Amino acid sequence: MSASRHPALSATDPELASFVAAEESLQAETLRLIPSENYVSAAVLEASGTVLQNKYSEGYPGRRYYEGQQNIDRVEALAVERAKGLFGVDHANVQPYSGSPANLAVYLAFAKPGDTVMGMALPMGGHLTHGWGVSATGSWFRGVQYGVRPGTGLIDYDAVRDQALAERPKIIFCGGTALPRTIDFAAFASIAEEAGSVLVADVAHIAGLIAGGAHPSPAGHVDVISTTTHKTLRGPRGAMLMCREEHAKAIDKAVFPGLQGGPHNQTTAGIAVALHEAAQPAFVSYAHAVVANAKALAQALLERGFDLVSGGTDNHLILIDLTGKDVPGKVAAKALDRAGIVVNYNTVPFDPRKPFDPSGIRIGTPSLTSRGLSTEHMPQVADWISRSVDAAAKADESALAVVRAEVTALMSAFPAPGLPLS
Ligand SMILES: *Cc1c(COP(=O)(O)O)cnc(C)c1O
Repeated sequence: MSASRHPALSATDPELASFVAAEESLQAETLRLIPSENYVSAAVLEASGTVLQNKYSEGYPGRRYYEGQQNIDRVEALAVERAKGLFGVDHANVQPYSGSPANLAVYLAFAKPGDTVMGMALPMGGHLTHGWGVSATGSWFRGVQYGVRPGTGLIDYDAVRDQALAERPKIIFCGGTALPRTIDFAAFASIAEEAGSVLVADVAHIAGLIAGGAHPSPAGHVDVISTTTHKTLRGPRGAMLMCREEHAKAIDKAVFPGLQGGPHNQTTAGIAVALHEAAQPAFVSYAHAVVANAKALAQALLERGFDLVSGGTDNHLILIDLTGKDVPGKVAAKALDRAGIVVNYNTVPFDPRKPFDPSGIRIGTPSLTSRGLSTEHMPQVADWISRSVDAAAKADESALAVVRAEVTALMSAFPAPGLPLS
């Protein structure tokens, strides 16, 4: 399979080519439920693997430090225009190498080391880069953290407001990596205004839902929107920072020359293609189908006795709390992997266990929706998860093998974008 798909690679480096071919098979055959992952289109894959790779272009379109930018400038300007149109923002910077450096650029633009910054705590669903201790953002800045309410698993906006007024952070981050519920950007905006803070919406997970109209947009509410391009947005691995005109200079200066050198032009091209795809009517259907699938999957899991953080989902993501089952998250995740269902283990709010051995598993529907699975398939998916978790509790490998065969059979009927037909 790989020799025909990647002939030059197979000839030059058969060992590496075999790894790629194996990964293609794995992505084709498994039910991929990691909510931050997806399948990019063949067009995005092609754009990301072009000779744009060969070009250095420090600076911005029309203001470069290297010559020969005739084509690169057009690629980047196109990506910027598409981002502005899709998200309804004044300014977009498409150069950040990934989500974490994009967030670092926000710190560089608006804060000094030692300043107080506020974000959601990692174990509550926030991201490392929102001021958590083990991250540079938590050691170079004074990170204060908010969480969710114990009973409901929902953000307590009154508590966030009290904390923000007491701490007066330079920057407040909203958004996260394990939040199954809609973020109230307007509520955060009024808190940030009262506290005199710069408000950043980190929509890495939900950018595609926002683009497709399946989650409210932070545009108009927040100072800066930070997002990765490779999660629900279905672009290459990269990131964007978007903002009001008043912050455009600060953001651009922070990304380059503040933090980065030359932009990855092949990635910029892939982002431009993904933004074009995300502006099509089919993407609106996709984004809504992701949410419909997640709601149907959550319902089917609840019916099978699973405990879900916040009781369900509004978006693409479900956080299963296994505290009441006999299986910790890691054991469940590894058993699911053997059954051909790929998830990640995750802390749940107020987790009694340690972060590397937590009580939850985090799942989501972006990838399976990209393959065309719909709500009618979600009871089947929930059934597989349930049987696999039960099998993990009983160390029943043959039950996992049975699930795996069923998963592979369904997956073969729903070919993934960008992958060879197996
Ligand atoms: C994924 C994610 C990031 C980081 O993205 P990387 O590309 O992995 O660096 C930042 N913030 C949030 C909320 C994320 O979900």
